[in-house]
Amino acid sequence: MSSSGFEPTIFSRIIAREIPATIVAETEHIIAFLDIAPKAPVHVVITTKDPQYQNVVELAAGNPALLAELVSVAERIAAERTNGQFRLVFNTGAAAGQTVFHVHAHVLGSQEPTEYLG
Ligand code: AMP
Repeated sequence: MSSSGFEPTIFSRIIAREIPATIVAETEHIIAFLDIAPKAPVHVVITTKDPQYQNVVELAAGNPALLAELVSVAERIAAERTNGQFRLVFNTGAAAGQTVFHVHAHVLGSQEPTEYLG
């Protein structure tokens, strides 16, 4: 447990530059990097620098402005890197596939005009 009371995840180590990642966007509160195991031609993880929210439901309740900023960064990444159509996924809970309990979104997309990502 860290001094702030939150168990650091692998994302905290990326934010601290303790482990490498390909960072594609960063603001004061948000960081985005390429997923290490991409599930689409474009797969970017967008997370908060603050580790206190484990999932999007907690973030929406605790800091909706930060959730809006995260979505805004996701939209900008999608505009830059995809054909404009993309999935924005917040896995919420282990049974739903969440493996890192530090709120994050996945942008999944493609630059190809016809690729189906369902
Ligand atoms: P989730 O399963 O929704 O919790 O998403 C966690 C994501 O983090 C997965 O898609 C992983 O592939 C990704 N991931 C885990 N470790 C790293 C890492 N060191 N660098 C980049 N992405 C990672």
